[in-house]
Amino acid sequence: MSLRIIFLGTAGSVPTQKRSLPSMIIQRKGEQIMFDCGEGVQRQIIRAKTGFHKKMKVFISHMHGDHVLGLPGLLQTMAMLDRQKKLDIYGPPGIKRFLEDVRETVQFVLTFPVEIHEIYEVGVVCKEQEYTVQAVRANHVIPNVAYAFVEKPRPGKFYPEKAKALGVSEGPFWSKLQHGHKVTLPDGRVVKPEEVTGVPRTGRKIVYTGDTRPFKGFAKFAANADLLIHDATFDEELTERAEEDGHSTPSQAARDAKKAKVKRLILTHISARYEDTSGLLKQAQKIFRNTQVAEDFMQIEMPLLDC
Ligand SMILES: [Zn+2]
Ligand SMILES: [Zn+2]
Repeated sequence: MSLRIIFLGTAGSVPTQKRSLPSMIIQRKGEQIMFDCGEGVQRQIIRAKTGFHKKMKVFISHMHGDHVLGLPGLLQTMAMLDRQKKLDIYGPPGIKRFLEDVRETVQFVLTFPVEIHEIYEVGVVCKEQEYTVQAVRANHVIPNVAYAFVEKPRPGKFYPEKAKALGVSEGPFWSKLQHGHKVTLPDGRVVKPEEVTGVPRTGRKIVYTGDTRPFKGFAKFAANADLLIHDATFDEELTERAEEDGHSTPSQAARDAKKAKVKRLILTHISARYEDTSGLLKQAQKIFRNTQVAEDFMQIEMPLLDC
């Protein structure tokens, strides 16, 4: 089962010709899980062809305009296109009032339910059957949460020969065993899933920092992630400025990646001053080799490893 990440906006603070404001989507089993929603996101969605009608959740890292101002426009476009499915929005306290105020003053009507979940306590903020989304307080100039999308482990690979050898015939019993349930055969014998499957397969973990300086506890939060998407607004020469504005440099992001033992790092929230990002990449790669700089519409496929 594939999982795809699509970057819709990779700029920091102001858009540029090549970069729109922050937003990315995880596509998984027909669902879209969006992180941050910069202005003009609906045009990016049209260009990326990700669609407006799918099952969807939006997670907002913090209430700075570049991360949240896309929401009213996105909701309006969805309503104009007659979206019917509910939309869940997660974000810091204040997000509910922001959306209610815009709806009251701009007066637009929605064709679909919107449920807003304000995050007062970090930890698991969204629990689904196959994954959770976890949040941790980061370190920006206003409250910002970093998110981790974490898939639950899946039952191991199913071995039909083993099932047959134990006298389990093909049909509903196989399906039950494949989904991790034991079965009782007509002759009274019990067959456990571990007798006919391999070791459980770990799920995928993707971490998105939003805007942040390096912070304590990050390595634990992001531990062993398959992918880390990290703020890298300013280069090393502007380390002090990064500290003042609550952002990170490529080497800080790379050190975080190394400490957390992630597999892959992508730098994003790139300041408009860097038209050429090769310098940012070099700075990070000195510390963490498997790094890339995000570009708008960049896509990453993350297959489930079959082991
Ligand atoms: Zn920002
Ligand atoms: Zn910010």
